[in-house]
Amino acid sequence: MPTSAALRPSPITPSVDFDAKGVQHGHLRLPYSRDDSAWGSVMIPICVIANGKGPTALLTGANHGDEYEGPAALFELAQTLDPSEVNGRIIIVPALNYPAFRAGTRTSPIDRGNLNRSFPGRPDGTVTEKIADYVTRHLLPLADIVLDFHSGGRTLDFLPYTAAHELPDKDQEARCFNAVAAFAAPFSMRMLEIDAVGMLDTTVEEMGKTFVTTELGGAGTATARSIGIARRGSLNLLRHAGILSGEPNVTPTRWLDMPSSDCFTFAEDEGLIAFAVDLGDPVRNGEVIARVYPAGKTGLAPIEYRAAMDGVLAARHVPGLIKAGDCLSVIATVTGET
Ligand SMILES: [Zn+2]
Repeated sequence: MPTSAALRPSPITPSVDFDAKGVQHGHLRLPYSRDDSAWGSVMIPICVIANGKGPTALLTGANHGDEYEGPAALFELAQTLDPSEVNGRIIIVPALNYPAFRAGTRTSPIDRGNLNRSFPGRPDGTVTEKIADYVTRHLLPLADIVLDFHSGGRTLDFLPYTAAHELPDKDQEARCFNAVAAFAAPFSMRMLEIDAVGMLDTTVEEMGKTFVTTELGGAGTATARSIGIARRGSLNLLRHAGILSGEPNVTPTRWLDMPSSDCFTFAEDEGLIAFAVDLGDPVRNGEVIARVYPAGKTGLAPIEYRAAMDGVLAARHVPGLIKAGDCLSVIATVTGET
């Protein structure tokens, strides 16, 4: 980011006071002049719950607008958490890319911005870049621990896992994985990114903070089970951070690893996809994961997609039709259970 842009103030105005005690429900107001509202704004919901002198947690959902597990848990937490139970501060932004969330799409309908590829953002950029910049320069400096909810959205479905990344600072890495363990999702991942540039994850990690992300299902909806995992994990993380009293309610988790890019399979053909294994099923190197049938004519052999490593199916393409370039599957290795 150029220095001149870094010095420009954010156009976003919060209606909450981050230094006040108690519960506040308000908005981050981002001016957005458009055809149907000349001096209009994007109103991003935000909740601040503060009491005592403990640390600050930032909890965010709908960084991608079609991922609902985090928002479902976070709207509930914002409505139900009692400040008398809090020692510290909880900042909840349940629908971070609010235009995308309202449209039910991964990226923003305003500028097609993928918020999680727009960090650290720009105060003089697109609407999506302005949101990223506000998070980077105004919300992250307040936070000691950051939890950013994701899932597969409309096009992917995942085993429900919490994740952290390998980091150069091993103390920080241990803090992040301890937080993943405290969240206690059914699965916990040592996560490899396809493309880490522009991610909130990287921005938080470069600030030396504790960062946890998730992939808690997907398929463009949220289930009672996945919302329950998100809710319980959030409370566990807040207990782990000392913001809520008590110990995390830790249940067994299976630890997964993505040891190399062999874990990803991308389609090279279009057609009707028929999976041969389901999420969580074990797969062997060379085993058929899915067959893609040319959909225009009968009698043609399907293209077989095979596992390039041993493991379990951790993610899969959701729509029944697939295109060349789509992520077909992710295989993870099971490294243990705690
Ligand atoms: Zn996402």
